[in-house]
Amino acid sequence: MEDIETTRMSKNVLSVGTLSASHGQKQYGVNEFLVERQPYRLPMWLINGVGEGPTLVVTAGVHAAEYASIAAALELGRSLDPGSFSGRAIVVPIVDMPAFSARSIYVCPLDGKNPNRVFPGNPFGSASEQIADWLFRNVISQANYYVDLHGGDLIEALVPFTIFFRSGDKRVDDASLEMAKVFGIHFLVCSETPGSTFCAASVAGIPSILAEAGGQGIWTAEDVCCHTNGLNRLMRHLKMTPGNAPETVPFALLERFLWLRSEHEGFWYPAIAVNDRVKAGQSLGFIKDCEGHVLQTAISPADGIVLFIVSSLAINQTDPLLAVGA
Ligand SMILES: [Zn+2]
Repeated sequence: MEDIETTRMSKNVLSVGTLSASHGQKQYGVNEFLVERQPYRLPMWLINGVGEGPTLVVTAGVHAAEYASIAAALELGRSLDPGSFSGRAIVVPIVDMPAFSARSIYVCPLDGKNPNRVFPGNPFGSASEQIADWLFRNVISQANYYVDLHGGDLIEALVPFTIFFRSGDKRVDDASLEMAKVFGIHFLVCSETPGSTFCAASVAGIPSILAEAGGQGIWTAEDVCCHTNGLNRLMRHLKMTPGNAPETVPFALLERFLWLRSEHEGFWYPAIAVNDRVKAGQSLGFIKDCEGHVLQTAISPADGIVLFIVSSLAINQTDPLLAVGA
């Protein structure tokens, strides 16, 4: 009898690492594990609802200076009530804590790598790869649905958009696109970014999206709300929280996510703004040298919408400049 009881109990417990939440409980805590032989601390909430339902995983702070997304994840973790929740949620508000403390742009200061290019990670790799591996095995792999929250980095302006990936598995891909529509942001962008959270999760059979709102180190109420509103809509859609199914929102589906990069070190003069509609062949800005000579003209590769722009005057060779969704 004891074995059966133990099995039943463990089935009802939501656990990640050393943290656990029983049926109807919420647990906040910090999981500690080794990264490059040093202790690494990862804060998270475990919410184990009273009703039956799927498991939703929400992460933010893979890019740790994208503050609107982090503020939204903190709000979600603090506010979810297991007493009126069906299913389970794991909320990780800041994946890359060293980058958060350092206010680092794009990369993890422990190894200089962009964490959103190393998923599903590698236990024998560098710091970012080890963090990604732990997160993927212990957290993301528990998900029936996965949302990774992002925004413009400290030097990026953007119009909100939601990214999804087509993995080739129709069940997963249909569910990911459905999640993107339900999230309620107008622009939906299909993208394959090798090593990114949502691509790795999709390949592992988990419907996933990556939502982008906010930027330039500012976290306005409107941008935070863009993320929390999307999460609330998704949870109502999945019947994890009470309330009517969310109203459908008109959306624009962009099949291509086209990035332009700098070929020079110099000074970046954008000639357009985010959310501008641009034409193929249109000049979108210039890289100049100190004296003002044009080193490079950024040319739009397609008719489309400007989704993000790097707003830093300083630009390095190979740095992103902007992206057009087409
Ligand atoms: Zn990001």
